[in-house]
Amino acid sequence: MIVRKYDFLYDEKTYAEIPCQLYCPVHTDVQEYVHLISKGKFAEAHALIRETNPFPSVCARVCQHPCETGCNRQKLDKSVSIRTLKRAATDLSEADFIPPPKTYPTLEKIAIIGAGPAGLTAAYDLARLGYRVTVLESEAHPGGMLRYGIPSFRLPREVIDKEVEMIKRAGVDIRYNTRVGKDITLNELRADNKAILLAAGAWKPAMLKVTGEDYEGVYHGTTFMYRVNSGESIPVMGKKVVVIGGGFT
Ligand code: SF4
Repeated sequence: MIVRKYDFLYDEKTYAEIPCQLYCPVHTDVQEYVHLISKGKFAEAHALIRETNPFPSVCARVCQHPCETGCNRQKLDKSVSIRTLKRAATDLSEADFIPPPKTYPTLEKIAIIGAGPAGLTAAYDLARLGYRVTVLESEAHPGGMLRYGIPSFRLPREVIDKEVEMIKRAGVDIRYNTRVGKDITLNELRADNKAILLAAGAWKPAMLKVTGEDYEGVYHGTTFMYRVNSGESIPVMGKKVVVIGGGFT
């Protein structure tokens, strides 16, 4: 079964027979894009992925690929490397991928607070449905956790910028350095918009709940990454550093 119809995007029953597509949070049409890649049709695969995901090049690098957890191929040997194939579709189509035409939505206005992956994905979907979307971002650049939470060696900033350009082509307006509550009030937004989406991010660090984690010189991963990616220097006390956690951060 091939499912591409946008209306069914969030109806899980539609994907019940396709575990990879069901496990993917944006229900990417994995079967079909892998099929297109097998035919050497990288640009078509890229366009198909972009139908439900405005961040294919980002996901190709940093998605935790739950789709592979659901892959039926595991019953035979191991999962298809779906995320890596997404990287092939996006990287190898750079020369011949034609971006969709620029669009100018005309329906009601919607404000989205936060230009991170959640806010921009919602903005992209709403703009393609015809709504006039304005995204308000407190930082000077888009991407939220993608830009300020992930090191650039894992996710080059030009990859984020290219994806955001595509989102803007769908008709999304992004206003930077705009903090809701300081530069504009929620009431002002309510007066001017049909709906408001709060997508301000998940910046609260996972606390260990151990004595001393609030001492000077102890940094939590998200705070540390935010400061590094914002260009701040981090004062280091002493000559030894202990890192708790062996993840990417
Ligand atoms: S890599 Fe991520 S975005 Fe891509 S199909 Fe798998 S779960 Fe979906």
